[in-house]
Amino acid sequence: MKALVFRGAGDVRWDDVPVPIVRRPTDAIVRMSATTVSAMDLEIRAGTLPEVRQGRILGHEGVGVVWRTGSGVSRLRVGDRVVVSAVSACGVCAHCRVGMRHHCLDPEGGRGSGWILGYSIDGTHAEYTRVPFADQSALSVPRGVADAGALLVSEVLPTAYEAAVQRSGLRSGESVAIIGAGPVAAAAVAAVRLAHPARTVGIDEDLASTEEEFDAVIDTTGSGASLRLAAHIVRVRGRVVTLGVHAPASRDDLQIFRERRIGLALSATAASSSRLLLRLLDERKLSVGHLITQEVGFDQMLSAFALSSGARANGTLKVLVRVAAD
Ligand SMILES: [Zn+2]
Repeated sequence: MKALVFRGAGDVRWDDVPVPIVRRPTDAIVRMSATTVSAMDLEIRAGTLPEVRQGRILGHEGVGVVWRTGSGVSRLRVGDRVVVSAVSACGVCAHCRVGMRHHCLDPEGGRGSGWILGYSIDGTHAEYTRVPFADQSALSVPRGVADAGALLVSEVLPTAYEAAVQRSGLRSGESVAIIGAGPVAAAAVAAVRLAHPARTVGIDEDLASTEEEFDAVIDTTGSGASLRLAAHIVRVRGRVVTLGVHAPASRDDLQIFRERRIGLALSATAASSSRLLLRLLDERKLSVGHLITQEVGFDQMLSAFALSSGARANGTLKVLVRVAAD
């Protein structure tokens, strides 16, 4: 089959590789219909994650159709349309049972981030993908949800929803600011509507100038400057949720959080909201079509990388890459 393979820093190329096989009873093989490029794919290509082996098929987001199932898969049938979660989790270990799916204890779990696809095992930038823990990590897509919406449930939407709605504790009538210009920020702006805030403001941290104070601030960027900005625009006893792992904050920055009794939460995506989000998409309570800014064919995958790496300049949020396996 055709797959996009990492060959070392700066080198991602097409290769002909064997179609994956079921290795564990809980695996499914998914024939991909659509995939996309994320910031971490760009990081791997740039060589900033040296632990990624040469020969690795990239990608951890995608929609497809179940093609083979292991004997232990019970929720899925061959032919089901599914979205592959970026968080791979067994669903039965002690961490999974308390919602810490990103910290799954299974030997193949992605302990810490939940991320293994296109990182420590082969990913979704291929005609077929082996999905471990398929009952938990490949979710049936309702008929009313198009590939474009479902694709965002792999990672972008649960990341945004779990930080901006769940971790922030956002309540009806409150004000919320969302810092960032990328797809997660755009998804957070869409997701917070579910909590009925009185006011939602998106702030590009590079262009920020506001005197306003907010009940909650969601930082999707994780730059040191964005944490400082958040501290200055959140009200006394407000809440800041950040998705980034910041460079060490300065004493002065942390002092602001202490003196003003600002709650600070560092959010890690568990993707425990994915089934709920698919339902909300199906019920038209959540609208995210505008996050897919371009669509290209599978043979133009490298142009999807180019669009995504120049995202700020060309207005790209997410590029849907249409995969058409034979
Ligand atoms: Zn687990």
